[in-house]
Amino acid sequence: MNEEPTVSFDQAFGALRQFTRTRRSTSRATEFCELCSAGLIHDHAHLIELASRQILCACDACAMLFDGMERSKYKRVARSAQYLVNFVMTDGQWESLLIPINMAYFFRSSAENRMIALYPSPAGAVESLLPLEAWNEIADDNPVLHAMRPDIEALLVNRVGHAYGMTRAEYYIAPIDECYKLVGLIRANWRGLSGGAEVWAEIGRFFTELRSKAEPVSGGLYA
Ligand SMILES: [Zn+2]
Ligand SMILES: [Zn+2]
Repeated sequence: MNEEPTVSFDQAFGALRQFTRTRRSTSRATEFCELCSAGLIHDHAHLIELASRQILCACDACAMLFDGMERSKYKRVARSAQYLVNFVMTDGQWESLLIPINMAYFFRSSAENRMIALYPSPAGAVESLLPLEAWNEIADDNPVLHAMRPDIEALLVNRVGHAYGMTRAEYYIAPIDECYKLVGLIRANWRGLSGGAEVWAEIGRFFTELRSKAEPVSGGLYA
């Protein structure tokens, strides 16, 4: 098989699970900066540790330190999302990416100097071997992908509705922590073989929320 579980994933999600749990309990809403221990507001910044791909919650002062800093251990995660209108991807192109489900995200790892493909599963994110030629073809059809910032932004693809002929496929350039959030909610809410109603409702809510805050941007060459 062309899949290998991401070893660092449990680590990475330990922090994020804690973050979603804390966000839900309104009575105990105090989170702390993972660098300096300052108290955090609900809508705080995140940093990504490049080597481990772990997400850290950060106060503004700490986040600002790593904002756009070159050759640093951490990078500040992007905040804004883009909804890619006119994104070009045929069913054949999607299949050539070898992702076994209809949802995945892709980002460039600067630590590994390559594009990484991950898809959510009940056990967390699973890394899939990305055929470079297939990716390059899609990137050439969608120049917006060349502007995607390494480590902190990802192409997030949702073709679930499309696969069932219900809705259109959705493409975003999303902050990487949003992708972690999606994986985390799937992992936390998946029941049985098909996931159950609760997880699909959560996935629906996630994409509705992402769409509502994303800026529509023309994705394809022929827009
Ligand atoms: Zn701090
Ligand atoms: Zn956080």
